[in-house]
Amino acid sequence: MDEFELIDQIFHRREDQKSWVSVGVGDDGAVLDVTPGKQSVVVMDTLVSGVHFLHAQPADSIGHRALAVNLSDIAAMGATPRWATLSLTIPDFDGEWLRAFAEGFFKLAQIHGVALVGGDTTAGPLAISVTVGGEVDPAAVLRRSGAKSGDRIFVSGRLGGAAAALSCEEASTDRALQQALWYPEPRVDLGMELGRLAHSAIDLSDGLLADLGHVLKASGDLGADIEADQVPLFDASVSLLEYRRALELALGGGDDYELCFTAPDKAHQELLSIGSRLGLEMFCIGRITREGGCCVRGGPPGLADITSGYRHLWRK
Ligand code: ADP
Ligand code: MG
Repeated sequence: MDEFELIDQIFHRREDQKSWVSVGVGDDGAVLDVTPGKQSVVVMDTLVSGVHFLHAQPADSIGHRALAVNLSDIAAMGATPRWATLSLTIPDFDGEWLRAFAEGFFKLAQIHGVALVGGDTTAGPLAISVTVGGEVDPAAVLRRSGAKSGDRIFVSGRLGGAAAALSCEEASTDRALQQALWYPEPRVDLGMELGRLAHSAIDLSDGLLADLGHVLKASGDLGADIEADQVPLFDASVSLLEYRRALELALGGGDDYELCFTAPDKAHQELLSIGSRLGLEMFCIGRITREGGCCVRGGPPGLADITSGYRHLWRK
């Protein structure tokens, strides 16, 4: 298969045409309709083999992840994703690998109504860049910078599962933890609902404490009190690793791709009902405070120093 056949047979999905795509794959550029009154949101993430994933892992999970990490950023902005572009650098034209990669990518794209409208394909060490564009009502943009002292801090699901899966042999074969690592589910539907309710939001890619730290800084050097026993953990990570390690990975591990957001007390009930409507677990884990810095209360003695955040675990 040469480059042009590859694009035509694998990435040019005529059957998935979206109404907002006027010109898609196959011309020199994509031409897209924009909804009057909306603002554009554009995000990009690159995945490098050996750093963000391993070439040996299932190719469909790499396709899934390449799109998922971008959709997670779109979710954290409160936007509706519309289109994606895909830059593929591949060592060879391995048709089987590419088909599996595309299957993971398009399955997730379909769930969220995203059209692949273009890209680039080159030969070289395996790396994948995806750009996703979305739209948002200007009044519903979620920012990192809106947290207020007294806000409750929420997360949209359990934390530390991906980091647990990478931490030991036993955890790496647990189904729930594997799923968390290889097939993270971006919280797009939730992000779209939060614009009206949340004061601030971020998606968790580098670990809760590190990412929440960005919110605190952007919101004017606020602080946070986290209740250790409210931090939601995976059952499997507690049973396989012990509680303290599971908590450390939830606070300092990365690759969760959950949303962390802050909202006033009066939004609490509505947030819980949105959670149950979307079938999402939602946890209040603490509060924003006036004092700078993040404080974890009530944890087991000797919690490791985890405030420095996550380094992608494959990068030795
Ligand atoms: P050009 O030389 O004009 O940049 P290319 O030959 O790189 O065009 O690409 C031809 C068409 O295929 C373009 O529409 C481009 O967006 C699309 N394309 C190339 N690679 C990919 C890919 N990996 N996924 C989706 N579309 C792609
Ligand atoms: Mg051209």
